[in-house]
Amino acid sequence: MSNRRKFIKGGILGAIGTAIFPRIISAKKGRQNSNSKSGFPIVISTWEHGIAANKAAMKILVDGGRAIDAVESGVRVSEADPEIMSVGFGGLPDREGKVTLDACIMDETGNCGAVSFLQHIKHPISVARKIMDETPHVMLSGIGALQFALEKGFIKENLLTSKAKKKWQDWLKESEYKPIINVENHDTIGLLALDKKGNISGACTTSGLSWKMHGRVGDSPIIGAGMYVDNEVGGCCATGLGEAVMKTLGSFLIVELMRQGATPQEACEEAIGRIIKNQNYKHMQIGYIAINKKGDHGSFAVHNGFNYALHQGGKNQMIDSPSFVKK
Ligand code: ASP
Repeated sequence: MSNRRKFIKGGILGAIGTAIFPRIISAKKGRQNSNSKSGFPIVISTWEHGIAANKAAMKILVDGGRAIDAVESGVRVSEADPEIMSVGFGGLPDREGKVTLDACIMDETGNCGAVSFLQHIKHPISVARKIMDETPHVMLSGIGALQFALEKGFIKENLLTSKAKKKWQDWLKESEYKPIINVENHDTIGLLALDKKGNISGACTTSGLSWKMHGRVGDSPIIGAGMYVDNEVGGCCATGLGEAVMKTLGSFLIVELMRQGATPQEACEEAIGRIIKNQNYKHMQIGYIAINKKGDHGSFAVHNGFNYALHQGGKNQMIDSPSFVKK
């Protein structure tokens, strides 16, 4: 065992984890890298809509394309699908009936771009990419982001489908206009890809928590919260209650834990542990997926029910994530 590895075992996970999360730590004993690799390219993404997104991303990678192009293409599939009511076009609106979108993207050199509180643009991920590629900034928000998108030729559209509008109107009847936080109303797509060269990139895009307050921005566009990659280490994406992820800078934390020697699985468990330690987790769901540069991956969630799509070795399949609360 290397010194670094001893540090993480005995240091961070030992001192904090064992004291506070005996269930997580004891479950870890005897298990190492069970989710292991079978070569590049690899694509991994959150929830069932990840299957179609992975497929689009993999199409680029098998032809030798770059991970950054693959992650953008992958999540655009979810953004364009009106049946996916948590991302892009067709996403559920805020409590005022407005669809507001958050997204971020990051490449293997550490370049990144993001948009928050963006309305009327179907593909926020591509606006984020343009911010990354063509401006000195990382994030544009609200009206400024919309103005930038229109200048770059994106088309202004109505993103509120009649199905989403109906759900919002139904919610309004009982809601008393209060934002709800529960384990149901989320399903961001976060997608990570390693290309044939082994370079990593990530993308994350969402319509955010449904019925949120107007102007609310979640974790998904925040580099290091909703998504983070480091080409020396690996990457991570988050889904679920953004406030909990932001308070712990979950994706950055997971990548840094992997840098110090944790497996992706161990790192995800530790990051969920940090949330459980300080927050009332009973009514919130958070799920993390992580992958390292060898292609080992892991996931962990607060509650049962989180799953993710893995495209590796010619197979694109759903995997159920382990969770802190089993039922
Ligand atoms: N993380 C997103 C947010 O809080 C929600 C989701 O995962 O769908 O905005």
